[in-house]
Amino acid sequence: MGNFDVIVVGAGTAGSYASYLLAKAGLNVALIEMKRRDKVFKTTGDAIGIHHIERMSIKPPSDVYAIKYEGAELYSPDLSIKYVVLGKGFGLDMAKWAQWLISEAEKAGVHIFDDHKVQGPIIENGAVSGVRVLKPDGSAEDFRAKVVIDASGVGAVVRSRLPREWWVSEPLLPEDVSNAYREIIQVDYEIEKPEYIKIYLDTNIAPGGYWWLFPKSSNTMNIGLGLWGKLSEENGLNPRHNYDKYLANSQYTRGRKVIHMGGGIVPTRRPLPSLVANGFLAAGDAAVTVNPVHGGGIGPALLSAELASKTVIDAFEKGDFTERGLWRYNIEYLRAYGIKQAMLDVFRLMLQTLTDDQLNKGLRARLLTEDEVLEISERGSLELSFIDKLKIGLRLMRVPDVASKLRLALRYMNEVKSLYEAYPESPSVLSSWYGKLASIYREYTGRLGITLKWLSNT
Ligand SMILES: Cc1cc2nc3c(=O)[nH]c(=O)nc-3n(C[C@H](O)[C@H](O)[C@H](O)COP(=O)(O)OP(=O)(O)OC[C@H]3O[C@@H](n4cnc5c(N)ncnc54)[C@H](O)[C@@H]3O)c2cc1C
Repeated sequence: MGNFDVIVVGAGTAGSYASYLLAKAGLNVALIEMKRRDKVFKTTGDAIGIHHIERMSIKPPSDVYAIKYEGAELYSPDLSIKYVVLGKGFGLDMAKWAQWLISEAEKAGVHIFDDHKVQGPIIENGAVSGVRVLKPDGSAEDFRAKVVIDASGVGAVVRSRLPREWWVSEPLLPEDVSNAYREIIQVDYEIEKPEYIKIYLDTNIAPGGYWWLFPKSSNTMNIGLGLWGKLSEENGLNPRHNYDKYLANSQYTRGRKVIHMGGGIVPTRRPLPSLVANGFLAAGDAAVTVNPVHGGGIGPALLSAELASKTVIDAFEKGDFTERGLWRYNIEYLRAYGIKQAMLDVFRLMLQTLTDDQLNKGLRARLLTEDEVLEISERGSLELSFIDKLKIGLRLMRVPDVASKLRLALRYMNEVKSLYEAYPESPSVLSSWYGKLASIYREYTGRLGITLKWLSNT
């Protein structure tokens, strides 16, 4: 099929946006998507914070939005406590969102190959030089480019087939994902305050995760749950099963008429040790860029696409497509989002050890206020004055068992932050940096009382 400057694999949020930005900069871009173009659609909770949209260099048309949100309501397992966390956002119509992004890419000059399935990378002389593609007629063809961006979602069809000794190919383990199922349904009652998404902590319904009710209008909603992949692996837990058991015939779904059903795997972990290799970058779910606490990945898919494209444009100016030449993507990603992602990963592992009773007690004692919850989820950290620390200290005294876990998490969040701030400026010293990361996690998870496979393999 010939040669391109850049091949982007996957026409989801990350891939379409990255290819749009690259073509706008004058590069010859192939966007390869396995689905038929009009069928591109991602099953999600559909919610996105407004700041992600505002950062985009193109303005979406209003029809990609199903609803506007003012914030989130967070409920304790016994439903006695409700936190209201303010923050504007949207419920997207994911079909229109996908079609809009693909058409913007096309208008910018991207060559779109839909119904074309990438089978894996072509590797020559230690660098990715293209991808092998299965065409609609069943024949295979090699596509070549200076740079390949894997934006194929959680399956990471290119990244996961790169040599295991390349940092970027680190496998995604069940302990680092959330398994999710959701339905878009119509109900026969008026949803209360549809301008607020609703998040419910409940370790029966969604162990190691949460269940959600995101209104799409006054009588339609996106409702589902995500549970910790480690529990699926060890105990066979299944999100669809829990949905059917707890939510499908509940007061929340009264008069349920299913509009769409589906599920998926959400990567909810620290950043990959590296997002690049010779001739290669990953973006979006393929690069595990999701928020580990709430599982929001549409915004980070846009952000990683933007930063990956910037690096690629720079690489073309310099003529350097090596791992070293593309390394700045790692640095910029960590600065913009990855450090927070790593800190939130530490926080989610602590959350995943809490029982319903502890969650009830912790929320009732307001161990963290709404503002602090927002600060942790926005920044991944808490910047506290002495007085704030004193106030938190007093609150912590009321629920010592939960408080000690919270303190532990906050301490290790800071350790991880310092380490990520000292992320290597070049690949040569990544190995010793990674060793330090593993030893922080080993100490932390030991104290939390959980075992992680990546640590026994490291
Ligand atoms: C149930 C669920 C609920 C979620 N809720 C939310 C939410 O409310 N808010 C939020 O922000 N995030 C949510 N997420 C996460 C979010 O959906 C993802 O993080 C985000 O959509 C990732 O975008 P992406 O472009 O990286 O990947 P994708 O949207 O998965 O795009 C990947 C594309 O690559 C294509 N592809 C795959 N393999 C190949 C191949 N071999 N060859 C060619 N093409 C290929 C796919 O067809 C697809 O079009 C949720 C996820 C799930 C599963």
